[in-house]
Amino acid sequence: MSAPRHAPHPFAVTGDELVIGGVPITRLAERVGRTPFYAYDRALISRRVAELRAALPHDMHLHYAIKANPMPALVQHMAGLVDGFDLASAGEMKIALDTAMPPDKISFAGPGKTEAELRRAAAAGIVVNLESELEMERLAAIGAQLGLRPRAAVRVNPDFELKSSGMKMGGGPKQFGVDAERVPAMLARMRDLPLTFHGFHIFSGSQNLKAEAIMEAQRNTFELARRLAAHAPAPVRLLNLGGGFGIPYFPGEERLELGRIGEHLAELLPAARKDFPDAEFVIELGRFLVGEAGVYVSRVIDRKESRGQVFLITDGGLHHHLSASGNFGQVIRKNYPVLVGNRLHASGEAIASVVGPLCTPLDVLGDRMALGHAQVGDLIVVLQSGAYGLSASPTAFLGHPAPEEVLV
Ligand SMILES: *Cc1c(COP(=O)(O)O)cnc(C)c1O
Repeated sequence: MSAPRHAPHPFAVTGDELVIGGVPITRLAERVGRTPFYAYDRALISRRVAELRAALPHDMHLHYAIKANPMPALVQHMAGLVDGFDLASAGEMKIALDTAMPPDKISFAGPGKTEAELRRAAAAGIVVNLESELEMERLAAIGAQLGLRPRAAVRVNPDFELKSSGMKMGGGPKQFGVDAERVPAMLARMRDLPLTFHGFHIFSGSQNLKAEAIMEAQRNTFELARRLAAHAPAPVRLLNLGGGFGIPYFPGEERLELGRIGEHLAELLPAARKDFPDAEFVIELGRFLVGEAGVYVSRVIDRKESRGQVFLITDGGLHHHLSASGNFGQVIRKNYPVLVGNRLHASGEAIASVVGPLCTPLDVLGDRMALGHAQVGDLIVVLQSGAYGLSASPTAFLGHPAPEEVLV
């Protein structure tokens, strides 16, 4: 743990420096060769997966949602840790299929899959999570053309919501999945199509820190799956319960109580195993697995005072890290945890704002934080940056170079 003034973080500290994957930050910057860069700590990712496994029932399968961080080396590392991948584009499919993960442990969700994407998925033998009746007909036609029966799961838009969720993706009218009440008719039609029914995908939301809300959604998910399974053309082999496990970003946010979720699942599973004897039960997670293991590092290029306020102008900004700038779906801008990675113990009360080089007032990485001790040349570290960082940012905006990315 760091000096008490700092936001808690899982990294080691040596002298005045943050250590990522065993390498002090200034040394890592030399090794990378330039700033800004993203760095992901391999051992921390492994540790997080191990913690999850310890908390969840032993036969609960764990999938990684590649959307959260598609860096190929990181996905390769993940392939040895989790039981499957969830992907949402043909680009992610290519990254996933380059790993040793068996295709039948990979599922492909997302509305608006193109004919070409469906064809590649069918040929690869991965599970397609169907988002509409039309998509089902398209996949079946492709199966007929290719002379195979593609694996198909139905993504269900549930008739309940994941409460207190940072991003709701189920319940009410949604572009995701098929409304639960339409699923029985869809399953009846599937009997006549050259598809291999695989199961259900029920994802209700994201970035949730309330164990109670997640437990309630999981209870509702099993219930909904039971009702729908009565209409299924074949036994359920995959029951994807979604995920939604959040990580704390802001002061006052409490860590998710994993133990309670695990105990609750252990209570639900005996009945579920009886009702779905052929099924794998899957939790799919993105940010929870990788978010805290990543940092975004930029260098202070200039230090200015303007009418009493100090600005640290860095070579990094919202074009690399839209989420930290507060412009990735946030309603109110709050600061991500930020520290001076090579001057951990020098922190004082002095206030400064961290901004980037873009000509827009939106380019703020830290608004009036206790970082006034930073000097030109110092390394500014944005914590909690392992998920929805680079790949969720508008790198072309203003034409600056893209950052490096390293797995350490
Ligand atoms: C985005 C997404 C995820 C990952 O969400 P996290 O909050 O990163 O865990 C998982 N499943 C689906 C279907 C998604 O769209």
